[in-house]
Amino acid sequence: MRRAVIAGNWKMHKTQAETRAFFDRFRPLVAGAQHCEIVIAPPFTSLTAAVESSRGTAIAIGAQDVHWETQGAFTGEVSAGMLVEAGCRYVIIGHSERRQHFGETDEWVLRKTRAALAAGLVPIVCVGETLPQRETGQTEAVLERQFRLGLAALTVEEFSRIILAYEPVWAIGTGRTATPELAAEAHRFLREQAAEKFGRTASGALRILYGGSVKPENIGGLMAQPEIDGVLVGGASLEAESFAAIVNF
Ligand code: PEP
Repeated sequence: MRRAVIAGNWKMHKTQAETRAFFDRFRPLVAGAQHCEIVIAPPFTSLTAAVESSRGTAIAIGAQDVHWETQGAFTGEVSAGMLVEAGCRYVIIGHSERRQHFGETDEWVLRKTRAALAAGLVPIVCVGETLPQRETGQTEAVLERQFRLGLAALTVEEFSRIILAYEPVWAIGTGRTATPELAAEAHRFLREQAAEKFGRTASGALRILYGGSVKPENIGGLMAQPEIDGVLVGGASLEAESFAAIVNF
Protein backbone atom coordinates (compact mmCIF):
# COMPACT_ATOMS: atom_id res chain seq x y z
CA MET A 1 0.00 0.00 0.00
CA ARG A 2 1.50 3.33 -1.07
CA ARG A 3 0.89 6.16 1.39
CA ALA A 4 -0.44 9.30 -0.29
CA VAL A 5 1.66 12.46 -0.30
CA ILE A 6 0.10 15.91 -0.59
CA ALA A 7 2.87 18.44 -1.19
CA GLY A 8 2.69 22.20 -1.62
CA ASN A 9 5.26 24.13 -3.62
CA TRP A 10 5.13 27.78 -2.64
CA LYS A 11 7.63 28.86 -5.31
CA MET A 12 8.79 32.46 -4.66
CA HIS A 13 5.89 33.31 -2.34
CA LYS A 14 5.61 34.15 1.36
CA THR A 15 7.85 36.01 3.74
CA GLN A 16 8.56 34.60 7.19
CA ALA A 17 5.65 36.55 8.70
CA GLU A 18 3.32 35.29 5.96
CA THR A 19 4.59 31.76 6.55
CA ARG A 20 3.76 31.93 10.26
CA ALA A 21 0.32 33.36 9.50
CA PHE A 22 -0.33 30.52 7.02
CA PHE A 23 0.57 27.85 9.57
CA ASP A 24 -1.59 29.44 12.26
CA ARG A 25 -4.59 28.93 9.96
CA PHE A 26 -3.49 25.66 8.36
CA ARG A 27 -2.53 23.61 11.45
CA PRO A 28 -6.03 23.23 12.93
CA LEU A 29 -7.54 22.51 9.51
CA VAL A 30 -5.36 19.42 8.99
CA ALA A 31 -4.96 18.31 12.60
CA GLY A 32 -7.04 15.18 11.94
CA ALA A 33 -5.43 14.21 8.64
CA GLN A 34 -3.68 10.87 9.04
CA HIS A 35 -4.26 9.37 5.61
CA CYS A 36 -1.35 11.14 3.90
CA GLU A 37 2.03 12.77 4.31
CA ILE A 38 1.73 16.55 4.18
CA VAL A 39 4.72 18.46 2.84
CA ILE A 40 5.15 22.20 2.36
CA ALA A 41 8.07 23.66 0.42
CA PRO A 42 8.55 27.39 1.16
CA PRO A 43 11.37 29.56 -0.23
CA PHE A 44 14.75 29.10 1.49
CA THR A 45 14.36 32.24 3.63
CA SER A 46 11.09 30.97 5.13
CA LEU A 47 12.23 27.40 5.85
CA THR A 48 13.08 28.03 9.48
CA ALA A 49 9.80 29.84 10.12
CA ALA A 50 7.96 26.90 8.53
CA VAL A 51 9.91 24.32 10.54
CA GLU A 52 9.19 26.18 13.78
CA SER A 53 5.53 26.68 12.89
CA SER A 54 5.02 23.00 12.06
CA ARG A 55 6.83 21.57 15.07
CA GLY A 56 4.75 18.96 16.88
CA THR A 57 2.49 18.40 13.87
CA ALA A 58 2.54 15.84 11.05
CA ILE A 59 3.41 18.53 8.51
CA ALA A 60 6.88 18.08 7.00
CA ILE A 61 8.92 20.81 5.39
CA GLY A 62 10.77 20.59 2.10
CA ALA A 63 13.00 22.85 0.04
CA GLN A 64 12.46 23.72 -3.61
CA ASP A 65 15.98 23.04 -4.81
CA VAL A 66 19.41 21.91 -3.62
CA HIS A 67 22.97 21.92 -4.88
CA TRP A 68 24.86 18.65 -5.31
CA GLU A 69 28.07 19.72 -3.57
CA THR A 70 28.34 19.75 0.21
CA GLN A 71 30.01 23.17 0.29
CA GLY A 72 32.21 25.43 -1.81
CA ALA A 73 32.33 28.42 -4.12
CA PHE A 74 28.79 28.17 -5.48
CA THR A 75 27.29 31.60 -4.92
CA GLY A 76 23.59 31.53 -4.24
CA GLU A 77 23.39 27.78 -3.73
CA VAL A 78 22.38 25.71 -0.70
CA SER A 79 23.59 22.19 0.14
CA ALA A 80 21.55 19.18 1.22
CA GLY A 81 23.26 19.15 4.62
CA MET A 82 22.26 22.78 5.15
CA LEU A 83 18.65 21.87 4.38
CA VAL A 84 18.71 18.98 6.84
CA GLU A 85 20.15 21.25 9.52
CA ALA A 86 17.37 23.77 8.83
CA GLY A 87 14.83 21.02 9.52
CA CYS A 88 13.89 19.95 5.99
CA ARG A 89 12.93 16.36 5.27
CA TYR A 90 12.06 16.65 1.58
CA VAL A 91 13.39 18.54 -1.42
CA ILE A 92 11.83 19.19 -4.82
CA ILE A 93 14.29 18.49 -7.65
CA GLY A 94 14.01 19.19 -11.37
CA HIS A 95 10.86 21.32 -11.24
CA SER A 96 9.94 22.44 -14.75
CA GLU A 97 10.42 26.10 -13.78
CA ARG A 98 14.02 25.32 -12.89
CA ARG A 99 14.46 23.42 -16.12
CA GLN A 100 12.83 26.21 -18.18
CA HIS A 101 14.20 29.36 -16.53
CA PHE A 102 17.45 28.23 -14.93
CA GLY A 103 18.84 25.70 -17.38
CA GLU A 104 18.47 22.68 -15.11
CA THR A 105 19.39 19.49 -16.96
CA ASP A 106 18.65 15.82 -16.38
CA GLU A 107 22.30 15.38 -15.41
CA TRP A 108 21.90 17.98 -12.68
CA VAL A 109 18.74 16.26 -11.52
CA LEU A 110 20.71 13.06 -11.02
CA ARG A 111 23.50 14.80 -9.10
CA LYS A 112 21.04 16.68 -6.91
CA THR A 113 18.99 13.56 -6.24
CA ARG A 114 22.07 11.64 -5.15
CA ALA A 115 23.22 14.49 -2.91
CA ALA A 116 19.77 14.77 -1.32
CA LEU A 117 19.62 11.02 -0.68
CA ALA A 118 23.13 10.99 0.79
CA ALA A 119 22.04 13.64 3.27
CA GLY A 120 18.89 11.72 4.20
CA LEU A 121 16.37 13.94 2.40
CA VAL A 122 13.47 12.56 0.39
CA PRO A 123 13.76 13.93 -3.15
CA ILE A 124 10.54 14.72 -5.01
CA VAL A 125 11.83 14.48 -8.56
CA CYS A 126 9.73 16.23 -11.22
CA VAL A 127 9.34 15.15 -14.83
CA GLY A 128 6.89 16.21 -17.51
CA GLU A 129 6.42 17.24 -21.10
CA THR A 130 5.71 20.67 -22.61
CA LEU A 131 2.64 21.38 -24.72
CA PRO A 132 4.50 21.23 -28.07
CA GLN A 133 6.04 17.92 -26.99
CA ARG A 134 2.60 16.50 -26.15
CA GLU A 135 1.03 17.83 -29.32
CA THR A 136 3.72 16.24 -31.46
CA GLY A 137 3.40 12.86 -29.77
CA GLN A 138 6.68 13.04 -27.84
CA THR A 139 5.31 12.66 -24.31
CA GLU A 140 6.59 9.13 -23.71
CA ALA A 141 9.97 9.84 -25.32
CA VAL A 142 10.42 12.90 -23.08
CA LEU A 143 9.42 11.04 -19.92
CA GLU A 144 11.63 8.11 -20.87
CA ARG A 145 14.61 10.44 -21.40
CA GLN A 146 14.05 12.36 -18.18
CA PHE A 147 13.74 9.09 -16.27
CA ARG A 148 16.77 7.47 -17.92
CA LEU A 149 19.13 10.43 -17.53
CA GLY A 150 17.79 11.76 -14.25
CA LEU A 151 17.15 8.58 -12.28
CA ALA A 152 18.20 5.33 -13.92
CA ALA A 153 21.75 5.50 -12.55
CA LEU A 154 20.54 5.32 -8.95
CA THR A 155 20.91 2.08 -7.04
CA VAL A 156 17.71 0.19 -6.21
CA GLU A 157 18.16 1.20 -2.59
CA GLU A 158 18.48 4.88 -3.55
CA PHE A 159 15.52 4.63 -5.91
CA SER A 160 13.37 3.15 -3.15
CA ARG A 161 13.70 6.45 -1.25
CA ILE A 162 12.58 8.87 -3.95
CA ILE A 163 9.15 10.23 -4.87
CA LEU A 164 8.42 10.97 -8.51
CA ALA A 165 6.14 13.83 -9.61
CA TYR A 166 4.57 13.83 -13.05
CA GLU A 167 3.99 17.48 -13.89
CA PRO A 168 2.95 18.19 -17.47
CA VAL A 169 4.37 21.67 -18.08
CA TRP A 170 1.21 22.78 -19.91
CA ALA A 171 -0.84 22.15 -16.78
CA ILE A 172 1.36 24.11 -14.34
CA GLY A 173 -0.12 27.42 -13.28
CA THR A 174 -2.41 27.46 -16.31
CA GLY A 175 -5.66 26.28 -14.75
CA ARG A 176 -5.63 23.50 -17.31
CA THR A 177 -5.46 20.21 -15.37
CA ALA A 178 -4.67 16.91 -17.03
CA THR A 179 -7.71 14.67 -16.88
CA PRO A 180 -7.34 11.96 -14.23
CA GLU A 181 -7.20 9.36 -17.01
CA LEU A 182 -4.47 11.18 -18.92
CA ALA A 183 -2.42 11.65 -15.75
CA ALA A 184 -2.88 7.98 -14.83
CA GLU A 185 -1.69 6.95 -18.29
CA ALA A 186 1.55 8.90 -17.83
CA HIS A 187 1.95 7.45 -14.34
CA ARG A 188 1.56 3.92 -15.72
CA PHE A 189 4.23 4.67 -18.31
CA LEU A 190 6.61 5.98 -15.65
CA ARG A 191 5.96 2.99 -13.40
CA GLU A 192 6.80 0.74 -16.35
CA GLN A 193 10.10 2.60 -16.78
CA ALA A 194 10.78 2.03 -13.11
CA ALA A 195 9.94 -1.67 -13.40
CA GLU A 196 12.28 -2.15 -16.36
CA LYS A 197 15.17 -0.48 -14.59
CA PHE A 198 14.64 -1.30 -10.92
CA GLY A 199 12.30 -4.32 -10.88
CA ARG A 200 8.66 -4.89 -9.96
CA THR A 201 9.08 -4.58 -6.20
CA ALA A 202 10.69 -1.14 -6.41
CA SER A 203 8.30 0.10 -9.10
CA GLY A 204 5.28 -1.18 -7.18
CA ALA A 205 6.37 0.77 -4.10
CA LEU A 206 7.24 3.98 -5.99
CA ARG A 207 4.96 6.91 -5.19
CA ILE A 208 4.11 9.00 -8.23
CA LEU A 209 2.46 12.37 -7.60
CA TYR A 210 0.54 14.38 -10.15
CA GLY A 211 1.11 18.15 -10.40
CA GLY A 212 -0.56 20.79 -12.56
CA SER A 213 -3.42 23.07 -11.50
CA VAL A 214 -4.62 20.79 -8.70
CA LYS A 215 -7.46 22.42 -6.78
CA PRO A 216 -10.06 21.42 -4.18
CA GLU A 217 -12.51 20.91 -7.08
CA ASN A 218 -10.42 18.34 -8.95
CA ILE A 219 -8.51 16.51 -6.19
CA GLY A 220 -11.24 13.90 -5.74
CA GLY A 221 -11.16 12.78 -9.36
CA LEU A 222 -7.37 12.64 -9.42
CA MET A 223 -7.04 10.68 -6.18
CA ALA A 224 -9.70 8.23 -7.34
CA GLN A 225 -7.12 6.92 -9.83
CA PRO A 226 -5.19 4.07 -8.19
CA GLU A 227 -2.11 5.14 -10.18
CA ILE A 228 -2.05 8.61 -8.60
CA ASP A 229 -0.35 8.46 -5.21
CA GLY A 230 -0.70 12.10 -4.30
CA VAL A 231 -0.26 15.58 -5.71
CA LEU A 232 2.24 18.41 -5.92
CA VAL A 233 0.33 21.67 -5.66
CA GLY A 234 1.50 25.17 -6.58
CA GLY A 235 -1.04 28.00 -6.53
CA ALA A 236 -3.68 26.26 -4.45
CA SER A 237 -1.17 25.54 -1.67
CA LEU A 238 -0.77 29.23 -0.88
CA GLU A 239 -4.12 29.60 0.89
CA ALA A 240 -4.55 27.58 4.08
CA GLU A 241 -8.20 26.80 3.33
CA SER A 242 -7.69 25.56 -0.22
CA PHE A 243 -4.61 23.51 0.63
CA ALA A 244 -6.39 22.00 3.64
CA ALA A 245 -9.33 21.08 1.39
CA ILE A 246 -6.89 19.27 -0.91
CA VAL A 247 -5.22 17.50 2.02
CA ASN A 248 -8.64 16.44 3.35
CA PHE A 249 -9.77 15.23 -0.09
C1 PEP B 1 3.83 23.28 -9.35
O1 PEP B 1 4.39 24.36 -9.22
O2 PEP B 1 4.46 22.24 -9.14
C2 PEP B 1 2.43 23.28 -9.76
C3 PEP B 1 1.89 22.13 -10.03
O3 PEP B 1 1.79 24.49 -9.84
P1 PEP B 1 0.20 24.75 -10.01
O4 PEP B 1 -0.49 23.83 -9.02
O5 PEP B 1 -0.01 26.18 -9.68
O6 PEP B 1 -0.16 24.39 -11.41
